[in-house]
Amino acid sequence: MKEYPGTTGLILNEPLLWEKGKKGRTGYSLPRRDVESYPVDESFVSDGPDFPDLSEVDVIRHYIRLSQWNFSVDSGMYPLGSCTMKYNPKTNERQVSQPGFAGAHPLLPPHLSQGILRLMFELEKFLVDITGMDAASLQPAAGAHGELAGMLLFHAYHKSKGSPRSKIIVPDTAHGTNPASAALCGYQPVTIKSNDKGILAPEDVSQIMDEETAGIMVTNPNTLGLFEENIKEIAEIVHAKDGLVYCDGANMNAVMGIVHMGDIGIDVLHLNLHKTFSSPHGGGGPGSGPVCVRKHLEPFLPIPRVIEKEGQHLLSVDFPESIGKLHAFYGNVGVLIRAYSYILSMGADNLKKASQLAVLNAAYIKQKLKDTLHLAYGRPCMHECVFSDKNQQVHKVTTLDMVKRLMDYGFHPPTIYFPLVVPGAIMIEPTETESKEDIDLFIDSMKAIANEAKENTELLREAPKNSRRRRLDETAAARKPCLRG
Ligand SMILES: *Cc1c(COP(=O)(O)O)cnc(C)c1O
Repeated sequence: MKEYPGTTGLILNEPLLWEKGKKGRTGYSLPRRDVESYPVDESFVSDGPDFPDLSEVDVIRHYIRLSQWNFSVDSGMYPLGSCTMKYNPKTNERQVSQPGFAGAHPLLPPHLSQGILRLMFELEKFLVDITGMDAASLQPAAGAHGELAGMLLFHAYHKSKGSPRSKIIVPDTAHGTNPASAALCGYQPVTIKSNDKGILAPEDVSQIMDEETAGIMVTNPNTLGLFEENIKEIAEIVHAKDGLVYCDGANMNAVMGIVHMGDIGIDVLHLNLHKTFSSPHGGGGPGSGPVCVRKHLEPFLPIPRVIEKEGQHLLSVDFPESIGKLHAFYGNVGVLIRAYSYILSMGADNLKKASQLAVLNAAYIKQKLKDTLHLAYGRPCMHECVFSDKNQQVHKVTTLDMVKRLMDYGFHPPTIYFPLVVPGAIMIEPTETESKEDIDLFIDSMKAIANEAKENTELLREAPKNSRRRRLDETAAARKPCLRG
């Protein structure tokens, strides 16, 4: 990239390290040798790879510049829907890097691991309290892994009753991982349509629920950001045929400490600790997707489980009906420590308040933008609201054009074209951490873009204008990435 000499504002040109290096530079110094030199067998010595010679400042500037090309939740608002990208308080990072945690080795015996075992034991209790369930396992490594654990629990339950079943009902508003997890477990996913209010109708569930169906997987709030108001009635229909109800709880950020999942008929629920409970998770992980269950499913939870015995915390495999082990050692413990730190530093009241603010912020955006963008469902939203490009179609401007332009205004684009039930969807989740000023700025930016859609269509089609790269051919960018900057 050599379009300009020097640098232009914050958009820094940055060569490869190989281009920056100059023979003879070094970035380290070693202490003077205080032992005698010893001849090394020549066959061990080779020229090695052709690494560039660089000074410390060369390397630091290189990587700091690269890091500044990334948009992150630490640098601005990240209004991604159906995948809570909220600010992760830095105290969680401090706690996880404490030597006692960072240095803990999973092969240490329990008497030398009491701190971490107690943390896991208590975290299970916290999650059970927050969700209104009875027991939990922290093993699953992500949301989709939690779903798989849930499906294995369904299977173990029906098998123990002597009748393993073959189908699972999955609504069209489910996250894509739901039918995939059911299928991975050997179930046949049966799609059910949401109604014109964007939620499930009990009549539709009762029509397809039968004795061959192991149960239903519901995301609640669903991926339209709407609460499944009929969930209790739906659970009764499923339970009446001895089926089970799975709740994808990745959207728990809307209902922490507010909805008791056990009371509304949920049998298994997974949480995404990396979303709701505040762990950085851009770039694919690591994550953590604990499963929470009601009493009747507890015997099947993965092993080992952390138990308390005579004041000591131990790992026990003494659960003969368990579905077995799902993860090496005990799951992604770093994420568990961050979640524990987040929950303790927030406290019960503030967790509830965080959910209330997350919903309030989304409702505010919905209200402020509903005359600008077409609102998919004119109902109270939870933590996210879904618009579409319907109003802009007359100007031949699409969702993609508008969100690309949003980058010029300094915001990360929201989730688009998902959920599939809304053509041209723009799904916005501001989260609880954004201030009113920042949210207003976002709203004003969206309004300005909608105006440009009327008056300056060309500009929108060419957006982004101010980013390091202009509009890419997204297919080619994914299939034939050019990694040279
Ligand atoms: C993110 C998400 C998932 C999948 O979680 P991963 O940790 O990415 O596997 C499942 N369901 C919903 C609703 C989600 O938002």
